[in-house]
Amino acid sequence: MKVKKKTATRRKAASRAHQDGNYDPTDRRAFLKGVARRNQGQPEFLQAVEEVAYDVFDYIGEQPKFSAKLVFERMTEPDRVLIFSVAWEDDEGNTRINRGYRVQFNNALGPYKGGLRFHPSVNLSIIKFLAFEQTLKNALTTLPLGSAKGGSDFNPHGKSDGEVLRFCKSFMLGLHRYIGPNLDVPAGDIGVGSREVGYLFGQYKRLTGEHAGGTITGKGIEYGGSLIRAEATGFGTVYFAVRMLEHHNLDIRGKTCLVSGAGNVALHCALKLAQLGARPVTLSDSSGFIHDPDGLDEEKIAAIKELKEVRRGRISEYARSRRRVSFHAGARPWGVKADLAFPCATQNELEGKDARTLLANGCIGVVEGANMPCTAEAQTLLRKKVLFGPAKAANAGGVAVSGLEMTQNSMHYHWNEQELDAKLQDIMTSIHGQCLEYGRRGRKTDYVRGANIAGFVRVGRAMIAYGV
Ligand code: NDP
Repeated sequence: MKVKKKTATRRKAASRAHQDGNYDPTDRRAFLKGVARRNQGQPEFLQAVEEVAYDVFDYIGEQPKFSAKLVFERMTEPDRVLIFSVAWEDDEGNTRINRGYRVQFNNALGPYKGGLRFHPSVNLSIIKFLAFEQTLKNALTTLPLGSAKGGSDFNPHGKSDGEVLRFCKSFMLGLHRYIGPNLDVPAGDIGVGSREVGYLFGQYKRLTGEHAGGTITGKGIEYGGSLIRAEATGFGTVYFAVRMLEHHNLDIRGKTCLVSGAGNVALHCALKLAQLGARPVTLSDSSGFIHDPDGLDEEKIAAIKELKEVRRGRISEYARSRRRVSFHAGARPWGVKADLAFPCATQNELEGKDARTLLANGCIGVVEGANMPCTAEAQTLLRKKVLFGPAKAANAGGVAVSGLEMTQNSMHYHWNEQELDAKLQDIMTSIHGQCLEYGRRGRKTDYVRGANIAGFVRVGRAMIAYGV
């Protein structure tokens, strides 16, 4: 009891010291205590901040210009948090209510920018962790993009088309005053694909009377979307993996790869792997994973895409239709022997025990397509032993092409597929270069450290330029 009281008193003191200015800005432990005190009940947000703090505090010890202005402390405090009610009517005429969120985290580099997630697990902690990660990720793209994230605890699974439309209309009614091409530009994420983006943008247009294309990205090609936006996150993740392997004199061709998820990121990650001669052997959804020992080729991936995106079916249905493919209910794919792993479903889907299994099976690289898919324990283990591509670097291709969609909208022009793919590859190469520049540890590269510090430096310099 006494120990608990003492810890609580110390935490309060750390938090007060931060607000009063009586605080050592190079003391990581004091900083983390303050963050924990001010963000109670937000484990995902604290996990994300702690991981970055580890590297940033190491760096700012020798960089007083950042520590004196409390740049990192300010970077972990969102500019604005919006929470709004979303009432809508189901097909039976019942009134339903969900909670909407938009966290506008940091606009030092450009308009707030980040996706919307519709999933029952959505809460303030998850949206804040995603928005905070977005700050560093968007900085790594070198495009003029600030950071945000939003969404709702609404579950689109099992809802009719009409119900999804009514929900999206009500969600946008709550959000439209706070977004715009130079203010805040949402996009898709889990549960928000091309259908939802269409409904959201349609409602924005109705409410404002403007076809302000740059207000939302991931739009359909017919009404201002960009080519390869749908593919960009998954393709970019593989391009980043290729750069990492090349830098270590390794080749992606012939590598057996585990991919989790069967959504936008996972399917395009698997597709690019297959196109480059690697052998993706798994995909998953929340009901389990499929294993195809022969490898998923372009034709098989197209069939799964049709099943998931058009028929909105479960991944198990695919296994039933193919003799050599097995389905593993309630399990994740990390126990299958492979060279590389690409977690592309959701946060904390790869735990410490999974990391140990991957290592025991001879895995040489883990590249994160999803946001924070590895738990802190898994990341610590993997970061030391294999090539580890962190999400904020590896999956930045999606937001990068969203940034290019904004550019095309403001130019009233569009680039073709080859031009955009070349730009995406350039951006992924540049992110890899930034990781090398800031992540060198002796003869090795720590990509997590590189991404954290490179992103921090870019945002931090802009924040210092503005004055406090
Ligand atoms: P989708 O909604 O298209 O797909 C998500 C996939 O992950 C589905 O197969 C889903 O299965 C599975 N999944 C979701 N939650 C869980 C869970 N709790 N346990 C197991 N499986 C789960 O989303 P995206 O592909 O767009 O996003 C995937 C990840 O990539 C997220 O972390 C997202 O933040 C990140 N990301 C996405 C970007 C984009 O451009 N879309 C950009 C950068 C990052 P089921 O259908 O059964 O729910």
